[in-house]
Amino acid sequence: MAIVAFDDPVMTARALVLHDLHATGVADADAVSVLEDAVAQRAWWLEQWPDGRPFLTGLVAQDVQDGLLESAGRWPLCSACEDSTHALYVDPDLGGPDPHWVCEEAGLVVARVGGL
Ligand SMILES: [Zn+2]
Repeated sequence: MAIVAFDDPVMTARALVLHDLHATGVADADAVSVLEDAVAQRAWWLEQWPDGRPFLTGLVAQDVQDGLLESAGRWPLCSACEDSTHALYVDPDLGGPDPHWVCEEAGLVVARVGGL
């Protein structure tokens, strides 16, 4: 993974989630626009609550996951199980430092957010 840790947490979150969209082959124009919307909303949110900085990447990942569910379906699909029709989840839920993608069915940590 060759992602620079930007000083700007909003740019970092954007880069990490964009990486995962590319890695899973779903980074089309619609998905990127879902990401841009999430990033714009969370940038505003961070201005209201600067202490939320460590939560930003996990929240953007969940926002994109929710946004894609409405348009494109479940994302990201599990890469750890043979039956890969289920989605991974962000842990810790509702954001937290150092977020990871987890498979709840197998109880596995699959990758860091940004490391798919
Ligand atoms: Zn799984």
